[in-house]
Amino acid sequence: MKVGILGGGQLGRMLLQAAANYTVETHVLENDEHCPAAHLCHHFTKGDITDFDTVYSFGKGLDAITIEIEAVNVDALEKLQAEGVKVYPHPSAIRIIKNKVVQKEFYKTNGIPSSDFKVTNSKSEVLDHLDFLPAVHKIGEGGYDGKGVQIINDQFDADKAFDAPSVLEKKVRIKKEIAMIVAMNDKGETALFPASEMMVNPVLNLLDYQVSPAILQDKVLWVVEAVAIKLVKALNSPGLFAVEMFIDEKDEVWVNETAPRVHNSGHHTIEANYCSQYDMLWRIMLQYPLGNTDAILPAAIVNIIGAEGFSGNAVYEGLDEVLKIENAFVHLYGKTITKPGRKMGHVTIIHKDYQDLTHKANKIKNLLRVIS
Ligand code: ADP
Repeated sequence: MKVGILGGGQLGRMLLQAAANYTVETHVLENDEHCPAAHLCHHFTKGDITDFDTVYSFGKGLDAITIEIEAVNVDALEKLQAEGVKVYPHPSAIRIIKNKVVQKEFYKTNGIPSSDFKVTNSKSEVLDHLDFLPAVHKIGEGGYDGKGVQIINDQFDADKAFDAPSVLEKKVRIKKEIAMIVAMNDKGETALFPASEMMVNPVLNLLDYQVSPAILQDKVLWVVEAVAIKLVKALNSPGLFAVEMFIDEKDEVWVNETAPRVHNSGHHTIEANYCSQYDMLWRIMLQYPLGNTDAILPAAIVNIIGAEGFSGNAVYEGLDEVLKIENAFVHLYGKTITKPGRKMGHVTIIHKDYQDLTHKANKIKNLLRVIS
């Protein structure tokens, strides 16, 4: 079977690592021939994943195709699907998720709890909604890793709002940020991974460290699970989905956003769960039974991020020390150049004791620095 991946970043790379367990011919389309996934696939094609002709000709001879990022040419995927190529997730689901305005409207129409919002087409429309503040302003298309998100507390912030089609959504008083990965196969069978809890670095707005399974009261967990399943069933598409949710101070659950693909919040499943999110997506695409999502042990993920003030050839200071830590698994993405804030890898730690996870996560954050 021939399977293509649109995008050759770290997620594509880990998906390819899991493919080694199956009989599958892998193809990657990506503009950068030095990308993390380039040398792990059987066939690499250099090209633009947002261009119709490039995506269409890449996908034409394949049996199935998946994505590692939503910013792809959905029209080409629709044509490929109509011609018999299996697309995971369905292009219709990518279309909904790709644009935050459409995504929010989808939640509203389908009774998925998500914070109230206004659609704003320009900065002046944000200024028309000062009574709606405090809010979070999210660019409709093209935002990624916190870069398309602004917190707007007052008129002063509103004056600096993105001047582009966006959603202005009510700011949630967040107690916890949770992600839940849901798998759905062609038959509509589903499997849920245990929830993960994320701690966000307020400066870079990037995931700081994560623990899984999240420690939640049963009644909150049930809501989280019910919302995640309802959302994926409403998307009506096979594939793997990461549903990011907020739990507010009243323990109410709100969907933040969904990723229709393998996700950073599931990195730890490689070591910490019987079936990883990557293995699960292969099972879905190759028509095998869904895997066991149970956690073998609790896990933490620490991102390895380019240090402030260093740009150039990456040097991993403290790597030897980290590699000596028991049950710490280092994943470097093979990026040669570091930049401040760039995701260069992650470390997964597994242990039965959550205190040990937190302790080691902090230790790793202090030991490991990406400099140049
Ligand atoms: P991205 O897709 O770029 O990661 P998100 O939509 O996940 O952006 O937002 C980034 C962060 O901003 C979230 O992790 C959360 O901390 C904060 N945030 C987003 N939406 C809200 C909201 N409605 N209320 C409060 N905080 C929010």
